[in-house]
Amino acid sequence: MVDLISQYQKIKPAVDAAITGVMETAQFINGPEVKSFQSELETYLGVKHVIPCANGTDALQIALMALGLKPGDEVITPSFTFIATTEVVALLGLKPIFVDVDVDTFCIDPSLIEASITPNTKAIVPVHLYGQASNMEEIMAIAEKHNLHVIEDNAQAIGSDYHLAGGDVKTGSIGHVGCTSFFPSKNLGCYGDGGAIFTNDDQLAAEMRMIVNHGQSKRYYHDRVGVNSRLDSIQAAVLRIKLRELDNYIEARRKVADYYDNFFAQFPGIKTPVRGKESRHVFHQYTLTLEGIDRNDLNAYLAEKEIPSMIYYPVPAHKQEMFASFGSASTELPVTDWLTERVLSLPIHTEMEEEQLVFICESIAEFINVHA
Ligand SMILES: *Cc1c(COP(=O)(O)O)cnc(C)c1O
Repeated sequence: MVDLISQYQKIKPAVDAAITGVMETAQFINGPEVKSFQSELETYLGVKHVIPCANGTDALQIALMALGLKPGDEVITPSFTFIATTEVVALLGLKPIFVDVDVDTFCIDPSLIEASITPNTKAIVPVHLYGQASNMEEIMAIAEKHNLHVIEDNAQAIGSDYHLAGGDVKTGSIGHVGCTSFFPSKNLGCYGDGGAIFTNDDQLAAEMRMIVNHGQSKRYYHDRVGVNSRLDSIQAAVLRIKLRELDNYIEARRKVADYYDNFFAQFPGIKTPVRGKESRHVFHQYTLTLEGIDRNDLNAYLAEKEIPSMIYYPVPAHKQEMFASFGSASTELPVTDWLTERVLSLPIHTEMEEEQLVFICESIAEFINVHA
């Protein structure tokens, strides 16, 4: 699905030198690379505070911990997402309330949010799935009206521009807190685990800085229960180099998406990803919705030709055993269930060659011609 080896070859001299630099100073934890990366990411995103942490799941957990919620408080999220988004809600003793997604954007459908709000609702966690931003303008308006916190799960959309009335901003900087992951295959990925939290709110930033470091306010004084969640210096050094490439990486992904869009336009059974008007799709995934074409058969056919294709995600959160005790399996999410049966993600990354695209597209055409 990605080609991190070819990508590394292109930045190898810079990456190798940066990693050696960390080794030679032995400042492995909270070293100068971490501070430089933090401030470079603040500039790139246009946010006041970036708080690096150990991974994207921690980022979401720490953001929720900072809100001072009580057990049983409700958090609205989509079910059509990677499990981490919803898992941390349950881990903290909060209650995930699953809301259906929009069939075109794959993101939470803002028109369904208000019906799920109760006196216990405290936060909304929209997910910018596959690199397509959720409708943040509507979500923020609902949040304001009902006095809710908004935590953006930006793990798949870092670098996306969002057009607000006042001008363009980056996704992850619109809600009260934004979270991301630097898992290697993400659009901005390191060479291990990493994550970050962003906010423009000074108080939340101070709280989250304490939480990532054992709830510590000053050395060995622990004001609240926290965690140990750090981005290490080697990962920060790699990320500084890759952050400079991020916009080029996004462009490369968008070119692949354009190629696929053009090719698949001839097949009525293939719905290509819809690009929301209000944001710039960064194509973490290129996900087809198939109608009248058997998704699982196509997936198997491509596998035979050694073309990877993935189902993100085969089981939505509300149907996971993990949430059985929440009774969420009975929640009606018809769009989520419908999409779960029909989505298929194709390879998309920064190093794709035209030859590979031709092979993938022609193989899919072959499948359709044989099975149609
Ligand atoms: C990757 C991902 C996460 C979790 O990130 P990790 O770094 O793997 O913990 C959370 N949410 C979404 C939508 C993701 O894609």
